[in-house]
This record gives sequence, structure tokens and C-alpha cells, in this order.
Amino acid sequence: MKEKLRKNLDEVIWNIEQARITINEHHIVKLVAVGKYSDEESIKTLYELGQRAFGENQVQQLETRVKNLEELPLEWHMIGNLQSNKINKLIELRPTLFQSLDSLKLALALNKRLETKGQKMSCLLQINSANEESKYGVSSDEAIDIYQQIQESCPQINLKGVMSIGAHVDDENIIQQSFETTHTIYKKLQNSGATICSMGMSGDYELAIKCGSNLVRVGSKIFK
Ligand SMILES: *Cc1c(COP(=O)(O)O)cnc(C)c1O
Repeated sequence: MKEKLRKNLDEVIWNIEQARITINEHHIVKLVAVGKYSDEESIKTLYELGQRAFGENQVQQLETRVKNLEELPLEWHMIGNLQSNKINKLIELRPTLFQSLDSLKLALALNKRLETKGQKMSCLLQINSANEESKYGVSSDEAIDIYQQIQESCPQINLKGVMSIGAHVDDENIIQQSFETTHTIYKKLQNSGATICSMGMSGDYELAIKCGSNLVRVGSKIFK
């Protein structure tokens, strides 16, 4: 199993390297390994291979893993939709980055609970740049407004940038357009302090990097 994971990880890292240097040598891309199809043993193995950042899309699973792998110096990213009844749980888990903050309403609720606990949380604003009904996130038209509103009204939330899932289609041009939409918004938000543009999954991380992503969330290509 270790050999398979090593091979997969090496391949993903190599592909990231190839894609990022097409932008420039200083374009650094972070890899977050998404463990939702996987088990704790595999996460431990990846840790031994040098991987440190891991993502989960469910608070429940995140909790189990954060607790069971407590002895390892891992960083945890929450990347899935957060229901409001799970806000307190997420705060308790102190994730390194909550990537899927997807509405002003959720931001206000999260900010309030963070205030009560005297905590802060680093977050990304999720943008539904492919305009897909099945997806969470703010619309690309409203993203900049909402980003600034969160910054103004949620002092406990440390907004670090944006996250998006590429269009769920086969046509690469359409996927590319959705990444470009997100990246354009990210560029504008750099004036407001944005430093992270999270886009790209197993099927499209190289394209996402070529469109300016500096954080990719890869699951199946590593763990399957
Ligand atoms: C599952 C998931 C990923 C990783 O998906 P793969 O296609 O397996 O790489 C990335 N981002 C989010 C938000 C996810 O839910």
C-alpha cells in the first residue's frame, strides 16, 4: 500500500511542479490531500512520505481524524459545506483553514460563535463560478461585495482568499472559464489581502494551476 501511495503522491507532486513552472518559478502551489475516500492508515502513510496538509468535507469525519491522529503535526482543512448546527463542532476542532465559507449568513453565524469562544478562524470564501445549481458558494457577481462585507462585519474571521470547484462538465474550455472567473476575482481581492486561490481537484488540478491556482485539493488521484 505504501508503494502505491508513494507512486501516486510522487506523480501528483511532479504534475504540480510541471504546471506551476508554466506560470513562473516563484509560483508556489500548496497540495492539500483530501482523505474522504481513504482511511487513517493511508493518511499516516502519506505523513511518513512528507505530506502535512489534509482536507475533509464532513465535520464528523474531520473530528474523528483530528482526534485519532492528534499525535502527528498535521494541518487540517475543512473543504465541505458546513451546516449551521455543526458550527460549534468546527470551532472546537480549530482547523488550519475553513475553505468552504459559502454565504454572508454563515459568516455572521460563525463570527458570533467565534466571538463567544474568543477564537478566530482563517477562511476562504467559496465562489460558485461555474454557476451550477448543485453547488454551494456565492455567485461570481456578488463575490467581491460579500468578501468585503465579511471583512467589515466579521472581525473573528480571517479571510485569506477564495475557493472554487471547477465546472462539472467534460468540455475543458468551460472548466477553464470557471477557473479564470475565480482567478479574476482573486486578483481583485488581493488589494483586500487575499493570498490564497484554492482551485483544482484530481481531474483538473493542472489546468487550475495554469489558471493561477496556488492551492489544490486532490483526493482520488492520491488515495485510489
Ligand atoms: C472531494 C473533494 C475534493 C477532492 O476530489 P478528487 O476529485 O477526489 O480529487 C476537492 N475539493 C472538494 C470540495 C471535495 O469535496
